[in-house]
Amino acid sequence: MRWIDGKACADSVKERVAQKANALRDKGVVPGLAVILVGEDPGSQVYVRMKGKACEQIGFHSVTRKLSASVSEGDLLSEIDGLNKDTRIHGLLVQLPLPGHLNADRIIPHIDPEKDVDCLHPINTGKLLLGTAEFQPCTPRGVMELLRWSEVDPDGKHVVIVGRSNIVGKPLSVMLAQKKPGANATVTLCHSRTRDLPGVISLGDIVVACMGQPGFVKGEWIKEGAVVIDVGVNRVEANNEKGYRLVGDVHAESAANRASLMTPVPGGVGPMTIAMLLQNTLESAARHAGITL
Ligand code: NDP
Repeated sequence: MRWIDGKACADSVKERVAQKANALRDKGVVPGLAVILVGEDPGSQVYVRMKGKACEQIGFHSVTRKLSASVSEGDLLSEIDGLNKDTRIHGLLVQLPLPGHLNADRIIPHIDPEKDVDCLHPINTGKLLLGTAEFQPCTPRGVMELLRWSEVDPDGKHVVIVGRSNIVGKPLSVMLAQKKPGANATVTLCHSRTRDLPGVISLGDIVVACMGQPGFVKGEWIKEGAVVIDVGVNRVEANNEKGYRLVGDVHAESAANRASLMTPVPGGVGPMTIAMLLQNTLESAARHAGITL
């Protein structure tokens, strides 16, 4: 079994993005990303800080707007409107989850679809389905890139995805099933109502776990030689300084005995999400400027 080094893959994406960003800068364009954070959710604070830091490291213009957990829908929407109009911003995202009184389904459609780097706007999710998308959501795009980088071609293979969320499983199923090189997979999308999950997983040439259940997918369920992509990031109690450690949705020890290739947690899909966010922002900046990368 060989581990897929997500950090190395993410570094190679970032290096490519940095080179292209330099070329854009020579033409007077600096890619800009704005992130709106509502409230104090500790996980979200960490992610937003990481996004800002990644932008700075690569020389992007970066804006973080922190709003109180009790912000009204109207005030949040006017913040979005302001950033929609800001010509230095090419990517805009609202960090999820939002506090209970705010409904993401009402907020996200206010983001300019041409700045929707998370690819959550209904126009962009529709285009994703049709295969005409300018944006692809960051984590699924990261999984596609990891497969490409590891020279795993999904063409004709059976991919079993466990988890059907709008940010990971569902869009990934659409991307893998597209009729185009690097995709062309036969996809089975599983969820909490799937019958005989172990039996379905055992059919997968490639298994993607994105369910948010620590160590749920057991090695015995995995076909000998399958490729296993573990998207899960779960905190479990541990006897260390932090009091926790991060584990995936796959039971790594047993799965390592069956898989041929596997992503670790941490250090697998995680670093790819931010790398693809930078790539989406770069591409958006180029489109706004009418420049072909
Ligand atoms: P959600 O909670 O939104 O969705 C979980 C999905 O898994 C649902 O479709 C649910 O089914 C399914 N599911 C849950 N339990 C079971 C079960 N026992 N059997 C079968 N299916 C089950 O999760 P997200 O997509 O937001 O996140 C999934 C994981 O990926 C989390 O650990 C998250 O932290 C991680 N993540 C990692 C990212 C990264 O950058 N590496 C980015 C985003 C997420 P149903 O629909 O029926 O409820």
